[in-house]
Amino acid sequence: MTITIDHLKVEYHNGGELLTILDIPFWHVKKGEQISISGPSGSGKSTLLHIIAGLLQPNKGSVQVCGQELTQLGEVKRDRFRAKSIGYIFQNFNLLQGFTALENVLLGMTFSAEKPHRQAAIDLLKEMGLDNRLKHYPSQMSIGEQQRVAIARALVKKPDIILADEPTGSLDPLHTGSVIVKLRQACEEQGCTLIIVSHEKEVVSAFEKQVCFLELNRAFAEKEGAA
Ligand code: ADP
Repeated sequence: MTITIDHLKVEYHNGGELLTILDIPFWHVKKGEQISISGPSGSGKSTLLHIIAGLLQPNKGSVQVCGQELTQLGEVKRDRFRAKSIGYIFQNFNLLQGFTALENVLLGMTFSAEKPHRQAAIDLLKEMGLDNRLKHYPSQMSIGEQQRVAIARALVKKPDIILADEPTGSLDPLHTGSVIVKLRQACEEQGCTLIIVSHEKEVVSAFEKQVCFLELNRAFAEKEGAA
């Protein structure tokens, strides 16, 4: 599904000072595109993903995702839109501690268009190399294993768009390459758009379309210039 951002601004008032975090004049992502975004820490990459997922509302501008103008939707409708259309892989995974790996992946299908499908969840966990971790709780898994569960949870509901915030940040080099290949393959098969934020060269260069965030976000470029 497409994403179109127009005259987007995200600002915070901090101790009387107005801080512009995002200033993106225009950005369009085509259906099924796979894009990596790289840029310095604090430049607003996660904020942009939050805006596309409808987790945060901008101060100004238009954000059209899958044909929906997100700035016109209230919180409840944005929650429903996200449950149906977006697979979000968070930096800190956001796994539910009281549920096993398999249950966490099944929960990924709750409220989505897909009916919870146990075998599909098992198959995805197996693809992620977690065959023998299905009944493990997050506290019983390594950080890298938890991250692969989070990736399976995002993929299983067959979303229109996957937003991945440093999805391989906790993986060893052996798993990084294979997880990116699997993520890209799954998105291609499902016709799903993929946007991945990463600081790892190996990850960024795996994508034909690479966005340098400092070129996209005028706010940070201006701040850097002024410093
Ligand atoms: P990145 O993902 O590129 O590391 P973030 O999107 O996490 O960057 O953060 C961008 C900037 O927004 C940071 O400088 C952060 O301090 C600032 N920021 C985030 N939330 C708030 C807030 N509620 N109030 C003020 N500044 C914030």
